[in-house]
Amino acid sequence: MSEFHEGSPCVHYGTPVVSGVAWAPSAWARRPTLPAQDEAELTPDQRPGAIDAYMTATDVVAQRLFERAEHSEGSAAEVLAVTASMATDKSWRKETVRYIEAGVPAVQAVVRATAKLIDSFERAGGIMGERTTDLRDVRDRVIAELRGEPEPGIPRTDHPVVLLADDLSPADTAGLDPSMYSAIVTEFGGPTSHTSIIARQLGIPCIVAARTIGQIAEGVHVLVDAHTGTITTGARHCDAHDAVAHEAERLAAIRAWHGPGRTRDDVRVELLANVQDDVTTRLAAHSGDAEGIGLFRTELYFLNTQVEPSVDDQAVLYGKVMQEFPESKVVVRTLDSGSDKPVPFAPLLEEANPALGVRGIRTTGHNQEFLPRQLDAIRLAASSVGHEHVLVMAPMISTVAETQWFAGLVHDRGLKAGIMVEVPSVAIMIDKFAPLVDFVSIGTNDLTQYVMAADRMSPHLAEYTDPWQPSVLRLIAHTAKVCRETGTDVCVCGEAAADPLLACVLVGMGVQSLSMACPAIPPVGARLASVTLEQCQAASVAIREATSPGEARHFARTQLPPLASAH
Ligand code: PEP
Ligand code: MG
Repeated sequence: MSEFHEGSPCVHYGTPVVSGVAWAPSAWARRPTLPAQDEAELTPDQRPGAIDAYMTATDVVAQRLFERAEHSEGSAAEVLAVTASMATDKSWRKETVRYIEAGVPAVQAVVRATAKLIDSFERAGGIMGERTTDLRDVRDRVIAELRGEPEPGIPRTDHPVVLLADDLSPADTAGLDPSMYSAIVTEFGGPTSHTSIIARQLGIPCIVAARTIGQIAEGVHVLVDAHTGTITTGARHCDAHDAVAHEAERLAAIRAWHGPGRTRDDVRVELLANVQDDVTTRLAAHSGDAEGIGLFRTELYFLNTQVEPSVDDQAVLYGKVMQEFPESKVVVRTLDSGSDKPVPFAPLLEEANPALGVRGIRTTGHNQEFLPRQLDAIRLAASSVGHEHVLVMAPMISTVAETQWFAGLVHDRGLKAGIMVEVPSVAIMIDKFAPLVDFVSIGTNDLTQYVMAADRMSPHLAEYTDPWQPSVLRLIAHTAKVCRETGTDVCVCGEAAADPLLACVLVGMGVQSLSMACPAIPPVGARLASVTLEQCQAASVAIREATSPGEARHFARTQLPPLASAH
């Protein structure tokens, strides 16, 4: 049943991760309440039967999830397969069986073993911390199976709803029908959580880390604006209709857009693609939207490679990427291994804080040979395929000495050299770095992580890892200004470039190229085409007064007309 009450609007805020607008009644996905822990102890002769029942339940749950994985595509299939394997995880099973052997009934044993594992995942933090939602999901499914109850999950519906949840598991999200679930809003989760990844793939507007939505009752109409990150109850009927109609116009403008990137007053902005291998590059080339490659993350090519490929073998791989854009700019980033991207053949150290440890360019201190060999391979690839627009940049640069050394190696090979601006030390002192290189590329994902001292992988820190944080924006503005003064090309290749509103602000700051996941190019291109450089500059000035990401977004909006009204 849906209820619609016009009243004084109540606005909740979260972090928008998939843009869009929706207006529909709310439907809560609530977790089943956990069983009481005061069950009578099992007698010794009941225990083997309980162990069998538990093992069978985990097999059934895993099997169901694997079957769903087989019928899904892309990241949905991947995350379902990962959740399925969690249901038969050896250490979890061992722990549960240990409890049952001690006389704890199967359902309670599952609860206790999961709590123990969740605790160790949370202490490990990072990606492991994010997997606790998956683990709770598997727990609830196995308990339902043991009790002979229907599988828990999202509420079924025969009319469009806004799905609200504390957090959603991949298994919940993967099967969502975008025509029935108009938007997703979660109290927890972050931009990299599975909910976000799958919502992006399904194209469902999504806001995460909306801490106060617990107050929203089941079935009330909710206006979700996943551009501003607001969730409004009690909105006026006409306002909600306007917002939805405006969104439809925005989508039409995006569909009608075609490159190359330029503002309404014809100022060129290069729109490039982020890629990771020949397959993603081919997709980018076929889309026709990207003007070239602004970030080729070479480490993602090698995440499963145990032995370092020879120079010739690497050259073949790089050449395949370059050939997809034979006449256009291709920016190859040298190996950014370590931290959340462990490359088996590159030095991997056990460190307490890997994001602050030996990663990116720093790994060359432990393996002096790899970088020169990778640069040889890039040069060989460029000359073999006759590519004249290959540039090379280094990740995680933090000192002038590293920059001089790196630029020397690249220039010796006749290639153009750049650095990523990801560590605040570089942005703060950019006047000393920029003259040493041919271009810089601002990696806003890591720059935000390091400026805000907030792990970008943490599901609990979405508010901090928001590139609209005013201190991050100030550093980007400073970097762009100094680069313009020193005549150094400046690009942004982090997620910030994929946010249409922020893209306009970045251009106003003096950024000349934006590189992003290919599907983000048309929304960014269409938004840029609707504004003038002067408006972008005014927005970049307006946000200087902001003291929070929400305020920064608001100030930018005051200077930049919404997309639809410009068409
Ligand atoms: C960044 O940090 O913004 C970036 C583009 O690099 P990555 O996301 O690969 O760390
Ligand atoms: Mg980075």
